Amino acid sequence: MKKRIVAFRRLKQEQLDQLTEDFHVDYFEKLDSADDPAFREALAEAHGLVGASLKITPQLLDEAPHLEAIASISVGYDNYPVDELTRRGILLCNTPDVLTETTADTGFLLIIATARRAVELAEFVKRGDWQESIGEAQFGTDVHGKTLGMIGFGRIGAAIARRGALGFGMKILYSNASPKPQLEQELGATRREMDELLAESDFVCVTVPLSAETEHLIGKREFALMKPSAIFVNIARGKVVDEPALVAALESGEIRAAGLDVFEQEPLSLESPLPHMANVVALPHIGSATHETRDAMAQRAVDNIALALKGERPISLVNEAAYQSRD
Ligand code: NAP
Repeated sequence: MKKRIVAFRRLKQEQLDQLTEDFHVDYFEKLDSADDPAFREALAEAHGLVGASLKITPQLLDEAPHLEAIASISVGYDNYPVDELTRRGILLCNTPDVLTETTADTGFLLIIATARRAVELAEFVKRGDWQESIGEAQFGTDVHGKTLGMIGFGRIGAAIARRGALGFGMKILYSNASPKPQLEQELGATRREMDELLAESDFVCVTVPLSAETEHLIGKREFALMKPSAIFVNIARGKVVDEPALVAALESGEIRAAGLDVFEQEPLSLESPLPHMANVVALPHIGSATHETRDAMAQRAVDNIALALKGERPISLVNEAAYQSRD
């Protein structure tokens, strides 16, 4: 009997074909909610899950007694109860590396777009307000030569800093759980306590994963430490930032602007003040959203789940302990 996989994100036909060679696949091209009865029925028989953007709770796991592995089509794994999965011996796989450069492009896009007010001024042109040469009221602020403070200096943080240091001559500061001597050497980066970094940076960019430790890492106190000219960029997860505190800092002029790819509630409601603020560039969580990278992520997830269900080591494994606990 073939093992069963539930796929709940769009996969290419070749990727589905690859899976159906060895497995039975229940495919939900677009799953709106975990409450979908057909999804719950499939879950009850599933050995593997492939998908993204679905909160997997211990209660859902209770309904999946045969589950052996989950392959998330994402690098972040804040949607999964990792300890609970490990306790149950269920492997959790993610997609690091293949999305690093694309997500860093998006991060840098937010840095430049906010500094040069690209979205606001593109709207100005579209509205027909460009009636004479622009003046100081439309000026932005330079990116090159400024200080970029990275909060989180892993794969994506380093890739954004590389763009800043090598492409824009920026001075790089970072605050990270562990020191990164190689990156210090490569980029001339300097490690700082977070408070110092906040006070010294022209651009503050967050790339830490969301966890119990990093939830609301940036709030009222942290915005107060930033320069009034500072531009804040979040390419990590919305909940790393206390959003009402961000809104207050933007409204009061405590910081100059924000470039945001992620929000506490997604999709972002128009009831939030953020999409209405001229000094905010808000994107719909597009960090990795290019054709090439989303295909590569889906392929990595397909390879991960196939290896995991065949008893082999997946390419990218989050909970090594679950793998080690296998017979
Ligand atoms: P990564 O390589 O694991 O980098 C994360 C970095 O954060 C690591 O250097 C880690 O330190 C550091 N860190 C973790 N907890 C910390 C804490 N409490 N305080 C200070 N530093 C801490 O991950 P990545 O591939 O760069 O991805 C980072 C995050 O970006 C993902 O988790 C995901 O949430 C987000 N992301 C968003 C998008 C998007 O579409 N916007 C796309 C991809 C990823 P150590 O090096 O010491 O472990």
